[in-house]
Amino acid sequence: MTLGKDWAIAWIEGCVKTVSEHREELIELDRAIGDGDHGENLDRGFTAVKSKLSSADVSNSGDVLKLVATTLMSTVGGASGPLLGTAFLRAAKEVTAENLGPRDLVAMLEAGLAGIQARGKADEGEKTMVDAWAPAVRAAEKAAKDGLAPEAVLRAAADAAQAGAVATGPLKATKGRASYLGERSIGHRDPGATSSAYLLEEAAKAAEK
Ligand code: ADP
Ligand code: MG
Repeated sequence: MTLGKDWAIAWIEGCVKTVSEHREELIELDRAIGDGDHGENLDRGFTAVKSKLSSADVSNSGDVLKLVATTLMSTVGGASGPLLGTAFLRAAKEVTAENLGPRDLVAMLEAGLAGIQARGKADEGEKTMVDAWAPAVRAAEKAAKDGLAPEAVLRAAADAAQAGAVATGPLKATKGRASYLGERSIGHRDPGATSSAYLLEEAAKAAEK
């Protein structure tokens, strides 16, 4: 089994929905260690994505992800817009086939993480979205190496991202706005890691349909 344009569209439609459903939660998380706008930023971005996607002429998964990238970059304020925009843009560049298999999905996730790190310069453990993406990439790599199907690769990535997001709670932030709080950032989950886990969950759900 492979994944194509329909999967990419279902994934992004899932992102629109999950971001809207978790808007308040993400605002609360960002209020604790940032400036309280993360839920609003992402909701604005994905609402714009929804409207563009409904009228755009997309011919493959790469087009879908490119549309997401440029829209997030231009509509999401804050740190997360350019970071996620870069992730989607780099992932889009890895789409070289009509239908994506386990290796393609791993390459996309690896490229997404590399994009986030190229832009944000954060390493794992600094309490940022990298703490969701890095374990997700490792889990996807392992699943693909074990010969699992595309939906199982994405499921492994999503579950690892979620665990990674939860594990940001006890960390002290050393990158991004939360780092201004120093020790006081400890005990709160990172909003960006949390939202990235939600986005990756939708990638898995869309593949499992
Ligand atoms: P802002 O911090 O500008 O208000 P958002 O609230 O939309 O932007 O996003 C905050 C999230 O962005 C953080 O929770 C964190 O996950 C992520 N982030 C911030 N700086 C970085 C960075 N340098 N590298 C990776 N992720 C980062
Ligand atoms: Mg913020």
